[in-house]
Amino acid sequence: MKTYNGELFAMDTYITYSVVSDDEGLAKQGLDAIEKAFIEIDEMTNRFSADSQIFAVNAAAGREPVKVDEHLFSMVQTALTWSDKTDGAFNLLIGSVMNLWGFERENPEVPTREAIEKALLHTDYTKIVLDEDASTIFLPEEGMIMDAGGVAKGYATDFAVLKLKELGIENALINAGGNVYTMGKKEDGSVWRVGIQDPRDSQGLSGILQVSDKALVSSGDYQRYFEKDGVRYHHILDPKTGFPARLCTGTTIVMDSATIADILSTTTFVEGPEKGMALMDSLPEVDGAMFIDADGTIYTTESMQKYLSEE
Ligand code: AMP
Ligand code: MG
Repeated sequence: MKTYNGELFAMDTYITYSVVSDDEGLAKQGLDAIEKAFIEIDEMTNRFSADSQIFAVNAAAGREPVKVDEHLFSMVQTALTWSDKTDGAFNLLIGSVMNLWGFERENPEVPTREAIEKALLHTDYTKIVLDEDASTIFLPEEGMIMDAGGVAKGYATDFAVLKLKELGIENALINAGGNVYTMGKKEDGSVWRVGIQDPRDSQGLSGILQVSDKALVSSGDYQRYFEKDGVRYHHILDPKTGFPARLCTGTTIVMDSATIADILSTTTFVEGPEKGMALMDSLPEVDGAMFIDADGTIYTTESMQKYLSEE
């Protein structure tokens, strides 16, 4: 067995991946398939690109439904289902508020409360109209802006894993900026080890997980942020206030679906460790969860223990 590595910058993130195989040709096909999967989903879900389908959906807000690819439709459908289950902590219409913060801009500023209040008026995701037969998405009010940043990397990860399985590849690792998926084993036959970033030490780890055939998705306030007057303003917003969520600094969810793990890592980041732990314990499809709060205290579900490595 040999390890073949690839990397890509897409979805505004450095994505690294490895395929382990004794067939070099197959491994290279695998690397190629991963790259294509991420580029395809990126092109569909990048709301800043005028060529993307999500851009078209946003541009038609208040006017008309837009026909979209089955991938975008299914991603939005899954996200809305989970938003309902979690009382809107995950909100696909956070785009209007994200635009005020402008975390992607060179000199982001703290918006005024008035501006945030106004933008929040366009965030009622329960009004999004999906037509499954026509495969259309309709944002019924002008000013509504869909932002798939909290789910698209997870979705693309699942899509890449599906392509690898179709090729017959059994051992691989994908890491898309904290959206990790482990398939099978490493080249030496041992289980993949995935470090959980310490939110306050870019060189440090808050834990190491040993997991096969699972998604491990992390959200954190260290991934995208700016500082102003000693305060950190980061990219995961509490949809109730329009301000960065303050109860967590990092969350990690382990489960089969990277799409749902991505949704839930963002959701629990907003909800905080207490609500998050209770929610994760209540969901049979979640295999484990870890939260780090604002003081640096680490909380892990009982189910997470089996994945935590001693060293
Ligand atoms: P993640 O890194 O998966 O937690 O996603 C963070 C990204 O999701 C942000 O950069 C925004 O694009 C988007 N986002 C921010 N706050 C929310 C929220 N409350 N619900 C859904 N998406 C959000
Ligand atoms: Mg997420």
